[in-house]
Amino acid sequence: MTSILFATSEARPLIKTGGLADVSGALPAALREIGVDCRILLPGYRKVMDALPDLHEVARFHELPYFGNVRLLEGRIPVSETPVYVIDSPWHYLREGGPYQDALGKDFPDNAWRFGLLSYLAARLASPDSPLDWRPDLLHGNDWQTGLAPAYLHYAGHRTPCVMTIHNLAHQGIFPPEMVEELGLPPESFDISGVEYYGNLSFLKAGLYFADWITTVSPSYAEEIQHAHLGMGMQGLLTDRRDHLTGILNGIDTTDWNPAGDPHLNCKYSSRATPGKKGCKQALQAEMGLIADTDAPLFGVVSRLADQKGLDWVLQVSGGILDRGGQLVVLGTGEKTIETALRNLAHNHPGRVAAFIGYDESLSHRIEAGIDIFLMPSRFEPCGLNQMYSLRYGSVPIVHATGGLKDTVEDGVTGFVYREPNSHGLWVAIERALALFAQKPAWRKMMLAGMKQDFSWEKSAREYAALYDRLLT
Ligand code: ADP
Repeated sequence: MTSILFATSEARPLIKTGGLADVSGALPAALREIGVDCRILLPGYRKVMDALPDLHEVARFHELPYFGNVRLLEGRIPVSETPVYVIDSPWHYLREGGPYQDALGKDFPDNAWRFGLLSYLAARLASPDSPLDWRPDLLHGNDWQTGLAPAYLHYAGHRTPCVMTIHNLAHQGIFPPEMVEELGLPPESFDISGVEYYGNLSFLKAGLYFADWITTVSPSYAEEIQHAHLGMGMQGLLTDRRDHLTGILNGIDTTDWNPAGDPHLNCKYSSRATPGKKGCKQALQAEMGLIADTDAPLFGVVSRLADQKGLDWVLQVSGGILDRGGQLVVLGTGEKTIETALRNLAHNHPGRVAAFIGYDESLSHRIEAGIDIFLMPSRFEPCGLNQMYSLRYGSVPIVHATGGLKDTVEDGVTGFVYREPNSHGLWVAIERALALFAQKPAWRKMMLAGMKQDFSWEKSAREYAALYDRLLT
């Protein structure tokens, strides 16, 4: 049986800031279902320690150079029962705030050590120096937080194969050059053929340089990041490594996201029995203080409020949506300027626009179920999950033709895909959607086409398993 150590900085349901957590919660579990012994390595943040009462110690590292005393605990993720190794280092991880930032949204000043430790232990557990009896055949790292792991393995002379997955190239783990020594990397590693990146240390660059294979979360994004426009400075390296770079589309958790059995919904429905969706729309309009009108096209957004997500374009077309009798509901949190603009829009259009500024997983389910049309105008999108949730919930997505959005929504068949990267492009797609919305049978056909798509994790897990097999033979 192939064994994989899956190192990650967040995993549902323990700790989540974005799509990485969804993938880390679901992919290892899906791999285990098809016979791969995949285990997770995760920092012991307070939320993780609290959520896993059955943790027990399996190893102890004394006086680790650069990182101090650290314990390794083992437990199992609730429900999926995926084994998880948790790094118990209170000094690094037990503190207020999120995984990367304090309560005020400022990056922790010691993130290089915090995720240096995660990378170091990932490499150690994947090497012959591991204190565990269980030894992975391959190390699978995710995003910059684990990027130094393949470098640690390389400079220690170990040859365990490594896969690095890019979930979001925008975060590169860049730190000043002095950190190379502070993190126990040899001076020669600070080189273009090493961890150096435009005069600094980049965790992500290190991972992409030393990994045996690079994956990202959709085929289109794998192609796009080889060009300056979306390569975020890494395009040269990624182009050099293009023969070792593939895109594997994320799946979605079809148990959590199932309108026929979703505990967050009062009315259930499926592609065979759709009337419940109307009940969800009525309930959502009531909950969000929107005018009760099931004929009004109800648009929705669930998103981090970041520049990447194109909310400025939504704001620009909102007047048009309202002029055409539409309603808009937005759930999101993030940049203060976008939060304020959305709050103002809702304030100026009571009963027609509702904005919930915050993070609320249960509400995100009720929005996906209750709306007619989901807007996802991301400037770039490595994979994106919400457009897939929307398809499954019969809420027709309108998406910008980028990355995973382009790979999951079929224009004119399951949703609307537009190319022009601006609010005009979005508006033209909205007009097309509104025209179809007026033709009930055609609209229903599109809804059902989306609901019948298979985005289960099993397909993606099989692609990862095939990649592991290729690298191990
Ligand atoms: P990203 O990882 O760039 O944020 P994805 O679409 O890949 O984008 O994943 C976002 C995940 O976070 C989805 O599961 C989405 O439902 C969830 N999400 C984002 N913002 C919120 C919010 N304010 N409340 C609830 N869920 C949210």
